[in-house]
Amino acid sequence: MTSDVLVIGGGVVGLASAYHLKRLSPGLSVTLAEKGARLCSVNSGRSAALYRNLFLSKTSRDLAESSIIHYRSIAGAIALKGLGYLWTFSRDEWTLLRTEAVRLASLAQEVELLEGEALSAATAMAREPKGPYPAAGGAIAGRLCGALSAQALAAWYAERFSELGGLIVTGADITGFDLDNEGGSLPTRVVGAKDARGEYYEAGRYLVAGGCWSQDLLGPLGIASAVYPKKRQLFGFSVARPDLLYGQASYGTPALILPYAGIYLKPVPERYLAVAGMADELGRGIDLPYGPAAARPRAEEEYFRAYIEPALGAYFPSLAAAYPRGLELKQAWAGHYDYHWPDKNPVLERAHNVVWVAGSSGSGIMKGDGLGRAAAAALLGLEQVELADGRPFKPADLSLRARAVAAEGLVI
Ligand SMILES: Cc1cc2nc3c(=O)[nH]c(=O)nc-3n(C[C@H](O)[C@H](O)[C@H](O)COP(=O)(O)OP(=O)(O)OC[C@H]3O[C@@H](n4cnc5c(N)ncnc54)[C@H](O)[C@@H]3O)c2cc1C
Repeated sequence: MTSDVLVIGGGVVGLASAYHLKRLSPGLSVTLAEKGARLCSVNSGRSAALYRNLFLSKTSRDLAESSIIHYRSIAGAIALKGLGYLWTFSRDEWTLLRTEAVRLASLAQEVELLEGEALSAATAMAREPKGPYPAAGGAIAGRLCGALSAQALAAWYAERFSELGGLIVTGADITGFDLDNEGGSLPTRVVGAKDARGEYYEAGRYLVAGGCWSQDLLGPLGIASAVYPKKRQLFGFSVARPDLLYGQASYGTPALILPYAGIYLKPVPERYLAVAGMADELGRGIDLPYGPAAARPRAEEEYFRAYIEPALGAYFPSLAAAYPRGLELKQAWAGHYDYHWPDKNPVLERAHNVVWVAGSSGSGIMKGDGLGRAAAAALLGLEQVELADGRPFKPADLSLRARAVAAEGLVI
């Protein structure tokens, strides 16, 4: 198979990149190779698919806010729900963060701060939770935020890409690359890639969008991706009535982050459920070396029972009272974040004729459109690209060599 560009990875970021590549340069022949039997079958498909523009760094905000504008323009096709988002902070955290939060509210669209009575009326959270759990001292709230279907979003990009003449090959597990090492001189470029079935993909340029597998793909080429895989789990449990979490619900029923250990809740009221996740840092390992062993990570119920459930009980006494025998776990699953640890913003870098886009650090769905535009532009050698709402973006800002991003503080 021969094409101008081979995109590797059929998650949301790879698909958005492939589509924008064809949109910006319709004459290019582009093939997308995905190792799974289906597109969006791993981390993109396992995400909570929440989206928010609550980011302190301009880079993250530009990528997310512009992507959200695009997602809202195709809301019906991607089951977009404008739930809103409420990120609560402990009193100590709020003291440190408040000035930054005020700045964020002045810069980002539809963002406000909730404090005092306004905060108390927004959720059913205990004012003084029992145990080691800090009380909420303030919150950043966003009306532009919500949830969508990652599968539907991936399908939207796949259809548009195919309509423009792009080729998608599933079941194509890229296992190695060939280099132009002829005649004893040092190699200067990748000339082809092969998959586990023996198919061969020749291309002039390569765009690796392998998410947490980026290092597996790039390492054998001698390229350091700067991206680390870390397990992340989600647990769906019964919530009979929204008031158990939201009380008077003066802010509606938004996605909610608690002021302890980055525990977050995605409400799914139509199924009488909420989905909980938790930021797990100290003591939870980085999954390197990665590879097939970690391809199907297990959700650990014991982790939910030991850490998440007690915190939920302390913050939501009415919820605990409604389920005296313990929260009813209905579903649980796990995947991997691909972190770029230094600043938790994505990485978009080039080595020879290989570009890679990864490190979305837990926000690849909400930044997917912006990242796809930036990756396409980087591959085409453009210095600047227009994001969905017209704001300009420089792909080089996400590079490792000429990186120009502020560290992102609002990552869970
Ligand atoms: C539990 C969980 C919850 C999350 N919640 C959210 C959220 O609420 N909002 C949000 O924005 N983000 C969330 N994320 C993060 C989000 O899922 C990622 O940022 C996003 O999916 C990254 O997209 P991607 O396309 O880069 O990677 P992926 O979706 O992982 O796609 C990479 C693709 O590359 C393919 N691939 C890998 N190796 C090869 C190979 N050798 N050959 C061919 N193909 C290959 C894989 O099969 C895969 O399909 C969550 C993640 C997890 C795990």
